[in-house]
Amino acid sequence: MSLNLRDVRAAHKRIRHISVATPLIPSMLSGQTGCELLLKLETTQPTRAFKIRGAANAIGSLTDEQKSRGIVCCSTGNHGRAVAFAAKQLGIAATVCLSELVPEAKAGAIEELGANVRRVAHTQEDAALETKRIAAGGVTEISAFDDVEVVAGQATITLELFERRPDLQNIIIPLSGGGLAGGMAFAAKQMQPRVRVVGVSMERGAGMYEAVRAGKPVEVEEYPSLADALGGGIGADNRITFDLCRKYLDDIVLVSEKEIYNAMRVAFQQDGIVTEGAGAVCHAALLAGKLKLEGATAFVVSGANVDMKMFQKIINGETLRLGDVEVGP
Ligand SMILES: *Cc1c(COP(=O)(O)O)cnc(C)c1O
Repeated sequence: MSLNLRDVRAAHKRIRHISVATPLIPSMLSGQTGCELLLKLETTQPTRAFKIRGAANAIGSLTDEQKSRGIVCCSTGNHGRAVAFAAKQLGIAATVCLSELVPEAKAGAIEELGANVRRVAHTQEDAALETKRIAAGGVTEISAFDDVEVVAGQATITLELFERRPDLQNIIIPLSGGGLAGGMAFAAKQMQPRVRVVGVSMERGAGMYEAVRAGKPVEVEEYPSLADALGGGIGADNRITFDLCRKYLDDIVLVSEKEIYNAMRVAFQQDGIVTEGAGAVCHAALLAGKLKLEGATAFVVSGANVDMKMFQKIINGETLRLGDVEVGP
């Protein structure tokens, strides 16, 4: 099963009645950086994250028989919400497995969409095992990232970027399992081989970064993070996103919790956008001086599903506790 640009174009047609073509707006940080910085606002999708693209494409590609048997997925929150949303639109029964690390706000939003939520102790890895167990009973699993149709759906962001700005020189993308960054990088390099594509992960538990370094998928520790949507490994039996990221990403940059914290404030104060931690990692890498940019650059602002109480604390500059560490300005 390999990806090609035709799949991505087909996905763009298939998902257009469920997801939206998101705005690309100039960032106020352009002046400070010496490059023209543009923000791709996936925060404006119906479920406030890009994951609706992959979920809508994968679910829309199922046979009628598969649809009637229902679907299951595991998720750090945003994929589950996207699957629940698309399933509801298409009248399909959905079960979403969540670990204890998924914030309550995200679990609640999934239940509100009518999906059956299963809380699983303790980690994303455990939620993945429960999903496999349910799928073994004949229910179709919708992977959060390691699936050709999901990757093709996420890659549709690249089509929209080049449609608006064929002159883009850099694309910077939040990175976890690699469905988003791997798919977008693949499509970008097919369309414009000279474009530079960089993934950004958090320092603690960066599964794809460790895998690329080791040359094979490795297990990573999972920690509470402001970028909770970036948690979890890439799967020991990874089929496609590891190869895509290894081949098509020019670099992977890591950011600290403090850098993410400050980036969420700056994105709000300067660019006027609410982002969850994962959505602010590109800002974080830029502000920390970890990106060297020249020419038109797009940041993917991947999601806005943040607990509002926590977000207010961050904007106010209050210190937060994340498991065993404190993070503040
Ligand atoms: C899932 C997610 C990511 C990472 O996407 P992958 O395809 O797993 O790399 C980034 N940001 C947000 C908001 C997400 O929900």
